[in-house]
Amino acid sequence: MDGTLPGVIALVDIDGTLLHGRPVAHGLGLVLAMRDVYGVHAGEADLVAVSPGGRTDLEIGLRMLTAAGVPEADAVAGLAEWCERTVARYLEIAGDHPVPSAAADARDAMDLLAAAGVRTALVTGNLEEIAHHKLELAGLGGIFRRGEGGYGGDAVERAEVVRIALARAGAAPADGVIIGDTPRDIAAARGAGCRVVAVTTGAFPADALRGADVVAANLTQAARSVIDPESQ
Ligand SMILES: [Mg+2]
Repeated sequence: MDGTLPGVIALVDIDGTLLHGRPVAHGLGLVLAMRDVYGVHAGEADLVAVSPGGRTDLEIGLRMLTAAGVPEADAVAGLAEWCERTVARYLEIAGDHPVPSAAADARDAMDLLAAAGVRTALVTGNLEEIAHHKLELAGLGGIFRRGEGGYGGDAVERAEVVRIALARAGAAPADGVIIGDTPRDIAAARGAGCRVVAVTTGAFPADALRGADVVAANLTQAARSVIDPESQ
Protein backbone atom coordinates (compact mmCIF):
# COMPACT_ATOMS: atom_id res chain seq x y z
CA MET A 1 0.00 0.00 0.00
CA ASP A 2 1.44 3.36 -1.02
CA GLY A 3 -0.78 5.53 1.16
CA THR A 4 -3.40 6.18 -1.49
CA LEU A 5 -6.49 4.13 -2.12
CA PRO A 6 -6.86 4.07 -5.88
CA GLY A 7 -10.28 2.84 -6.88
CA VAL A 8 -11.42 1.65 -3.47
CA ILE A 9 -15.18 1.94 -3.10
CA ALA A 10 -17.16 1.39 0.10
CA LEU A 11 -20.56 -0.15 -0.61
CA VAL A 12 -22.77 0.77 2.31
CA ASP A 13 -25.95 -0.92 3.51
CA ILE A 14 -28.89 1.05 4.92
CA ASP A 15 -31.02 -0.80 7.51
CA GLY A 16 -29.02 -1.58 10.64
CA THR A 17 -25.97 0.15 9.18
CA LEU A 18 -26.64 3.79 8.17
CA LEU A 19 -30.09 3.73 9.80
CA HIS A 20 -31.13 2.25 13.12
CA GLY A 21 -34.64 1.21 14.11
CA ARG A 22 -37.36 -0.84 12.47
CA PRO A 23 -38.39 0.34 8.99
CA VAL A 24 -42.10 -0.06 9.72
CA ALA A 25 -43.52 1.91 6.80
CA HIS A 26 -41.26 0.08 4.37
CA GLY A 27 -42.42 -3.32 5.58
CA LEU A 28 -46.07 -2.27 5.46
CA GLY A 29 -45.57 -0.90 1.96
CA LEU A 30 -44.37 -4.31 0.78
CA VAL A 31 -47.36 -6.02 2.37
CA LEU A 32 -50.00 -3.55 1.14
CA ALA A 33 -48.65 -3.72 -2.42
CA MET A 34 -49.01 -7.49 -2.26
CA ARG A 35 -52.73 -7.01 -1.74
CA ASP A 36 -52.93 -4.48 -4.56
CA VAL A 37 -51.13 -6.57 -7.16
CA TYR A 38 -51.68 -10.21 -6.21
CA GLY A 39 -54.73 -10.10 -3.95
CA VAL A 40 -52.58 -11.70 -1.23
CA HIS A 41 -53.56 -10.55 2.25
CA ALA A 42 -50.29 -10.88 4.08
CA GLY A 43 -49.50 -9.29 7.42
CA GLU A 44 -46.45 -8.35 9.41
CA ALA A 45 -46.10 -11.92 10.72
CA ASP A 46 -45.78 -13.16 7.13
CA LEU A 47 -43.03 -10.61 6.52
CA VAL A 48 -41.17 -11.63 9.67
CA ALA A 49 -41.56 -15.30 8.68
CA VAL A 50 -39.34 -14.86 5.62
CA SER A 51 -36.53 -13.38 7.76
CA PRO A 52 -36.22 -10.17 5.72
CA GLY A 53 -32.97 -8.82 7.22
CA GLY A 54 -30.29 -8.60 4.53
CA ARG A 55 -32.55 -9.85 1.76
CA THR A 56 -33.44 -7.78 -1.29
CA ASP A 57 -36.99 -6.47 -1.53
CA LEU A 58 -37.45 -8.65 -4.63
CA GLU A 59 -36.40 -11.75 -2.71
CA ILE A 60 -38.65 -10.83 0.23
CA GLY A 61 -41.57 -10.44 -2.17
CA LEU A 62 -40.92 -13.74 -3.93
CA ARG A 63 -40.57 -15.63 -0.66
CA MET A 64 -43.80 -14.16 0.72
CA LEU A 65 -45.67 -14.96 -2.50
CA THR A 66 -44.36 -18.54 -2.48
CA ALA A 67 -45.42 -18.90 1.15
CA ALA A 68 -48.90 -17.63 0.18
CA GLY A 69 -49.16 -20.28 -2.56
CA VAL A 70 -48.83 -17.97 -5.56
CA PRO A 71 -47.40 -19.93 -8.54
CA GLU A 72 -43.86 -18.82 -9.39
CA ALA A 73 -44.71 -17.70 -12.92
CA ASP A 74 -47.53 -15.46 -11.61
CA ALA A 75 -45.28 -14.10 -8.86
CA VAL A 76 -42.52 -13.20 -11.32
CA ALA A 77 -44.96 -11.71 -13.83
CA GLY A 78 -46.26 -9.20 -11.27
CA LEU A 79 -42.97 -8.17 -9.69
CA ALA A 80 -42.35 -4.96 -11.65
CA GLU A 81 -45.84 -3.71 -10.80
CA TRP A 82 -45.42 -4.84 -7.20
CA CYS A 83 -42.24 -2.76 -6.88
CA GLU A 84 -44.06 0.31 -8.23
CA ARG A 85 -46.98 -0.22 -5.85
CA THR A 86 -44.62 -0.79 -2.92
CA VAL A 87 -43.04 2.61 -3.48
CA ALA A 88 -46.46 4.27 -3.83
CA ARG A 89 -47.84 2.59 -0.70
CA TYR A 90 -44.67 3.39 1.27
CA LEU A 91 -44.85 7.07 0.31
CA GLU A 92 -48.53 7.19 1.35
CA ILE A 93 -47.82 5.93 4.86
CA ALA A 94 -44.21 6.97 5.55
CA GLY A 95 -45.34 9.94 7.64
CA ASP A 96 -47.57 7.81 9.86
CA HIS A 97 -44.88 5.61 11.38
CA PRO A 98 -41.68 6.07 13.38
CA VAL A 99 -38.76 6.90 11.13
CA PRO A 100 -35.50 4.96 11.50
CA SER A 101 -32.81 7.30 12.81
CA ALA A 102 -29.39 7.91 11.33
CA ALA A 103 -26.42 6.26 13.02
CA ALA A 104 -24.95 9.06 15.14
CA ASP A 105 -21.67 8.95 13.21
CA ALA A 106 -23.07 8.19 9.75
CA ARG A 107 -22.28 11.51 8.09
CA ASP A 108 -18.89 11.88 9.78
CA ALA A 109 -17.87 8.36 8.78
CA MET A 110 -18.85 8.96 5.16
CA ASP A 111 -16.90 12.24 5.26
CA LEU A 112 -13.90 10.37 6.65
CA LEU A 113 -14.01 7.97 3.70
CA ALA A 114 -14.38 10.79 1.19
CA ALA A 115 -11.46 12.69 2.71
CA ALA A 116 -9.31 9.56 2.28
CA GLY A 117 -10.28 9.31 -1.39
CA VAL A 118 -12.59 6.35 -0.89
CA ARG A 119 -15.70 6.48 -3.05
CA THR A 120 -19.00 5.48 -1.47
CA ALA A 121 -22.20 4.03 -2.91
CA LEU A 122 -25.22 2.24 -1.51
CA VAL A 123 -25.69 -1.51 -1.64
CA THR A 124 -29.06 -2.18 -0.06
CA GLY A 125 -31.98 -4.55 -0.27
CA ASN A 126 -34.27 -1.49 -0.39
CA LEU A 127 -35.94 -0.38 -3.61
CA GLU A 128 -34.13 2.73 -4.87
CA GLU A 129 -36.92 5.27 -4.22
CA ILE A 130 -37.47 3.97 -0.70
CA ALA A 131 -33.73 3.86 0.03
CA HIS A 132 -33.25 7.54 -0.79
CA HIS A 133 -36.50 8.62 0.88
CA LYS A 134 -35.54 6.87 4.13
CA LEU A 135 -32.08 8.47 4.11
CA GLU A 136 -33.57 11.93 3.46
CA LEU A 137 -36.10 11.52 6.30
CA ALA A 138 -33.24 10.60 8.64
CA GLY A 139 -31.20 13.65 7.63
CA LEU A 140 -28.74 11.75 5.43
CA GLY A 141 -29.87 13.16 2.10
CA GLY A 142 -27.29 14.27 -0.43
CA ILE A 143 -24.56 11.77 0.48
CA PHE A 144 -25.46 9.13 -2.11
CA ARG A 145 -26.57 9.79 -5.66
CA ARG A 146 -29.49 8.16 -7.42
CA GLY A 147 -28.46 6.00 -10.32
CA GLU A 148 -25.33 4.91 -8.44
CA GLY A 149 -25.07 1.89 -6.15
CA GLY A 150 -27.23 -1.23 -6.12
CA TYR A 151 -30.79 -1.67 -4.88
CA GLY A 152 -33.32 -4.31 -3.96
CA GLY A 153 -35.18 -3.89 -7.23
CA ASP A 154 -32.08 -4.52 -9.34
CA ALA A 155 -31.81 -8.27 -8.66
CA VAL A 156 -33.24 -10.97 -6.43
CA GLU A 157 -29.83 -12.15 -5.24
CA ARG A 158 -27.91 -9.71 -3.07
CA ALA A 159 -24.49 -10.68 -4.52
CA GLU A 160 -25.85 -9.63 -7.92
CA VAL A 161 -26.84 -6.25 -6.42
CA VAL A 162 -23.19 -5.87 -5.35
CA ARG A 163 -22.00 -6.72 -8.89
CA ILE A 164 -24.41 -4.16 -10.35
CA ALA A 165 -23.17 -1.46 -7.95
CA LEU A 166 -19.56 -2.22 -8.90
CA ALA A 167 -20.40 -2.09 -12.61
CA ARG A 168 -22.19 1.27 -12.22
CA ALA A 169 -19.05 2.62 -10.52
CA GLY A 170 -16.68 1.07 -13.05
CA ALA A 171 -14.99 -0.67 -10.11
CA ALA A 172 -13.39 -4.11 -9.86
CA PRO A 173 -14.58 -6.56 -7.17
CA ALA A 174 -11.17 -6.42 -5.51
CA ASP A 175 -11.70 -2.68 -4.95
CA GLY A 176 -15.11 -3.14 -3.30
CA VAL A 177 -15.60 -3.18 0.47
CA ILE A 178 -19.09 -3.94 1.72
CA ILE A 179 -20.14 -2.27 4.98
CA GLY A 180 -23.21 -4.08 6.31
CA ASP A 181 -24.81 -5.57 9.40
CA THR A 182 -26.02 -9.08 8.55
CA PRO A 183 -24.54 -12.46 7.63
CA ARG A 184 -26.27 -12.00 4.26
CA ASP A 185 -24.17 -8.88 3.59
CA ILE A 186 -21.10 -11.00 4.26
CA ALA A 187 -22.30 -13.77 1.95
CA ALA A 188 -23.09 -11.23 -0.78
CA ALA A 189 -19.64 -9.69 -0.49
CA ARG A 190 -18.02 -13.12 -0.77
CA GLY A 191 -20.25 -14.02 -3.71
CA ALA A 192 -19.15 -10.89 -5.55
CA GLY A 193 -15.47 -11.15 -4.56
CA CYS A 194 -15.37 -8.11 -2.25
CA ARG A 195 -13.98 -7.47 1.22
CA VAL A 196 -16.51 -6.89 3.97
CA VAL A 197 -16.66 -4.94 7.21
CA ALA A 198 -19.59 -5.85 9.47
CA VAL A 199 -21.01 -3.44 12.03
CA THR A 200 -22.73 -4.69 15.18
CA THR A 201 -25.34 -1.90 15.12
CA GLY A 202 -28.07 -4.06 13.56
CA ALA A 203 -29.71 -7.24 14.82
CA PHE A 204 -26.58 -9.40 14.82
CA PRO A 205 -23.87 -9.60 17.50
CA ALA A 206 -20.17 -9.84 16.66
CA ASP A 207 -20.25 -13.61 17.01
CA ALA A 208 -22.73 -13.97 14.17
CA LEU A 209 -20.62 -11.70 11.95
CA ARG A 210 -17.23 -13.33 12.40
CA GLY A 211 -17.13 -14.31 8.72
CA ALA A 212 -16.38 -10.66 7.90
CA ASP A 213 -12.83 -9.39 7.36
CA VAL A 214 -13.42 -6.88 10.15
CA VAL A 215 -16.18 -6.56 12.75
CA ALA A 216 -16.67 -2.95 13.87
CA ALA A 217 -18.70 -1.41 16.69
CA ASN A 218 -19.77 1.57 14.60
CA LEU A 219 -19.37 3.29 11.22
CA THR A 220 -16.38 5.35 12.29
CA GLN A 221 -14.46 2.19 13.15
CA ALA A 222 -15.67 0.62 9.93
CA ALA A 223 -14.48 3.61 7.88
CA ARG A 224 -11.07 3.56 9.56
CA SER A 225 -10.66 -0.13 8.72
CA VAL A 226 -11.52 0.56 5.07
CA ILE A 227 -8.98 3.39 4.92
CA ASP A 228 -6.27 1.36 6.62
CA PRO A 229 -7.03 -2.39 6.53
CA GLU A 230 -3.77 -3.14 8.34
CA SER A 231 -4.83 -1.07 11.36
CA GLN A 232 -7.20 -3.86 12.46
MG1 LIG B 1 -28.89 -4.18 6.86
